[in-house]
Amino acid sequence: MSLPARRAVGVFGGTFDPIHVGHLVAAVNVRHALDLDVVLLVVANRPWQKEGSRVVTPAADRLAVVRAAVGDVAGVEASDLEVARRGVSYTADTLAALRARDREADLVLVIGADVAASLHTWERLDEVRARCRLAIVNRPGAPPPAVPAGWRADVVEIPALEVSSTDLRARVTDGRPLDYLVPAAAVRELRRRGLYAAQRMDERLPEGPEA
Ligand code: ATP
Ligand code: MG
Repeated sequence: MSLPARRAVGVFGGTFDPIHVGHLVAAVNVRHALDLDVVLLVVANRPWQKEGSRVVTPAADRLAVVRAAVGDVAGVEASDLEVARRGVSYTADTLAALRARDREADLVLVIGADVAASLHTWERLDEVRARCRLAIVNRPGAPPPAVPAGWRADVVEIPALEVSSTDLRARVTDGRPLDYLVPAAAVRELRRRGLYAAQRMDERLPEGPEA
């Protein structure tokens, strides 16, 4: 009897405030390039590196929008691991939980080149390094990202999509369109929840059963 193949799991963490096509295109291309079984979009519950600088949208809202964005695309899944764990989100804990769930899994941490450059600021980095290898996504034509010393890493070229959550939040606030930058189902979900529209009450859907 042959042993079941070792599962290769991409772990793509982010605040996803909100998720956009840059994240999704990175996820599907890393999955394809490295032949991963699945890429988990792991929504940070409390992203400690961002909390000091701005108000972060409640995790349940961000997770719901990620779920809507993923839809039924094969091999990409929204993960509530960090949201369900509550508290401050550390990747070291997330990898330990995934390891406990599947002793044999090949865990691949997916990060952008910007995150690769600041990896040294992470908590319990030695634990992270011991538990996974890296996939660094890079835009074609961009200088090759520096692979942090001591890490096993693949660099995956993805189409450059100059979209960021920061820009999307400003777009909602200003009333500019999100269409095609965020999947339609996710746009509907974030509108339904009234996210990012604090300064534009007129953009909110009316409350009540008929809305
Ligand atoms: P913000 O503008 O609030 O920083 P963001 O768009 O950078 O948000 P994050 O949730 O901070 O999104 O990013 C999560 C991960 O996605 C990081 O590894 C980041 O490098 C990567 N990423 C962000 N934007 C893109 C993009 N346009 N293309 C590819 N990867 C991206
Ligand atoms: Mg960012």
